[in-house]
Amino acid sequence: MIPIALPILDGEEGEAARRTVLSGWLSQGPQVAAFEHEFAALVGASYACAVSNCTAALHLALRAIGVGPGDEVVTASHSFIASANSIRYCGATPVFVDIDPSTYNLDPERVAEAITERTRAILVVHQMGMPCDLAALKALADRHQISLIEDAACAAGSQIRIDGLWDWIGKPHGQIACFSFHPRKVITTGEGGMMATGSVDLDQKFKLLRQHGMSVPDTVRHGSQQVIFEDYLEVGFNYRMTDMQAAIGRKQLERLTDIVSRRRALAGLYAELLGNIEGLSLPFEPEWARSNWQSYCVRLPDRVDQRAVMQSLLDQGIATRRGIMCAHREVPYAHEKQRHDLCQSELAQDRSILLPIYAQMVEEDQVRVADALKATLRN
Ligand SMILES: *Cc1c(COP(=O)(O)O)cnc(C)c1O
Repeated sequence: MIPIALPILDGEEGEAARRTVLSGWLSQGPQVAAFEHEFAALVGASYACAVSNCTAALHLALRAIGVGPGDEVVTASHSFIASANSIRYCGATPVFVDIDPSTYNLDPERVAEAITERTRAILVVHQMGMPCDLAALKALADRHQISLIEDAACAAGSQIRIDGLWDWIGKPHGQIACFSFHPRKVITTGEGGMMATGSVDLDQKFKLLRQHGMSVPDTVRHGSQQVIFEDYLEVGFNYRMTDMQAAIGRKQLERLTDIVSRRRALAGLYAELLGNIEGLSLPFEPEWARSNWQSYCVRLPDRVDQRAVMQSLLDQGIATRRGIMCAHREVPYAHEKQRHDLCQSELAQDRSILLPIYAQMVEEDQVRVADALKATLRN
């Protein structure tokens, strides 16, 4: 069986987790602090704050910039449902706009049309690790004096060229970039999230909100020679990452560059192997973007039954997934009348499939996937 994805973990991560367990400090502590420091340094952000998952990160990000009831946040429907849900958590309204079908990312022109006097922020998504058009979206956000938050859940290790320089996603262009370390992403801590920002004020706010609004973290009280009483400054959350997760994350971070270059090579080979299949559209990488290829998404030829293709591949021992979901078609959002046309989002969900891609994948398996897809489409 060729799986859709496979995390890379070995004795290094096992040993790091073991050492942390034996250290006696299990929740957010020195490993979390070190992980934040290393992550910020790698992506080129001034600050990073680890949290329990990326959904929590998105919630805190929107909360910290003051998104609340009555506000609108422009975002993609064509995304994992957590993007939309994080807006709802704040009592605000997600305003869905369509994607550019070639990159599966928000179309800046559609975003511009969707901005109203109630728009508080744009929540952009680097879908499947492909950087969205940050330069255009940032200019738009600046012009309207609204915030730009990046859902970079899939985009650890992706890069974008802005003003002639290649930056890692996470280097602050918007206010805050939120990452996920779920096992389906390119590096993992089991569950986990990270918020990167250039603002010390925002970073302090995240660090307050992620642990119940507590004025003095327990690590500080624990290490103090003096008795300290903490205060609770506002209604916060328990969004802490554990030190075991952070210890694993630090090892994963050391592998990130290698994982991404391997995935880029795999994407390159897929492009060769699949390039001559009639009617099949391959993913497009703009010349200013370097994807980490968290997912490899192909669009099936017209009139081909998506489910039948996926079933046929599964019968041949190859796991696939359908195109990224559309939140506006799911129960929590389906009753709302959509203001903007979302036909490219729906087509992307209905006509695309994701192929297996993971750093350990060997050429032989990629050839098997390509041959099986070719044969299936021929029938
Ligand atoms: C995975 C994902 C999330 C949620 O991440 P978790 O860490 O599982 O909470 C949010 N947005 C996008 C685009 C994702 O792919």
